[in-house]
Amino acid sequence: MNEEISKELINWWKKNKRDLPWRKNKNPYNIWVSEIMLQQTKVNAVIPYFEKFIKEIPDIKTLAQMEEEKLLKLWEGLGYYSRVKNMQKCAKILIEEGKVALPKTYEKLLPLPGIGPYTAGAIASIAYNEKVCAVDGNVLRVTTRVLNSFENISDGKVRKKIEQQLNKKMPEESGNFNEALMELGAMICIPIHPRCNICPISSYCKGYQKGNMYKLPIKEKKKKQKEENITVFLLIYKGKIAIKKRPNKGLLASLFEFPNEMKRIEEKEMQNIFDITEIQKGIEYKHIFTHKIWNMKSYKINLEKKPKEKYIWVSLNTLKSKYTLPSAFTPFLRDLEKEK
Ligand code: SF4
Repeated sequence: MNEEISKELINWWKKNKRDLPWRKNKNPYNIWVSEIMLQQTKVNAVIPYFEKFIKEIPDIKTLAQMEEEKLLKLWEGLGYYSRVKNMQKCAKILIEEGKVALPKTYEKLLPLPGIGPYTAGAIASIAYNEKVCAVDGNVLRVTTRVLNSFENISDGKVRKKIEQQLNKKMPEESGNFNEALMELGAMICIPIHPRCNICPISSYCKGYQKGNMYKLPIKEKKKKQKEENITVFLLIYKGKIAIKKRPNKGLLASLFEFPNEMKRIEEKEMQNIFDITEIQKGIEYKHIFTHKIWNMKSYKINLEKKPKEKYIWVSLNTLKSKYTLPSAFTPFLRDLEKEK
């Protein structure tokens, strides 16, 4: 990106940027929270979560001290809980080192948990104006279109090359430039139908001039996701429902779930597992993670006796107000609620 493009982009950004709560000031903590939330979630969905989070946890110290259950509750619905757990890890490290704020440079931000090159670049440039790029999917799309590049953006080397090219030509207003690129990718240079007719940099865009904007960027197809069958037991004993905590490592670590088995179990087999007074088929649900798919099938089971395994027995109201179920399990909670 040459100097002229940067200027055009920054001017366009200053006039057209959306009024978003994390843009009210250059507070690095707020920028960090918003960037982590925005990693897998759309802007409109993030706004209420961001506002609540900042109100309840306004700084690193409060984040480091926050009880994990409360923290996960604040994140409930955003998914990918490892993001907020890493934020807390990061806050604890900083507090232990006697710091009360995030480091000010890309190099020092990068080793912290959950902070990758994109987030480090975003915080360092937006909050501290360090001349470093922040390359996310939006930025990759815009740059490959502007450069008319047919390289595969899923390839880490291509991404690195784009980062190096951007870093070489970073303007003084690096934070504004990075935000302008991201905003252009989110509002104008959008994936399927780029709005080239109103794009502030169309006269510099080689992809547009060559009519290739719809073909770009090139993304190699992802590997097929692995599918797994899961049977979910909605165990009910004297009006209480069984839940358990997942292991503190791995997928959905430390979150609560309904008891389940990672295989298909048919209704007639249930008699061998539980002391049942009544059993009913529940809903089926397909949960899609980035790397795998869970095909989930549930049974509502009224028990005569509690099973040997130690579960936590809770009322529906307590379950909703005190425990965090990952989104893979919330459809089953809604199904139970319907019966109330
Ligand atoms: S002209 Fe079109 S393809 Fe090029 S940057 Fe603008 S919106 Fe994207």
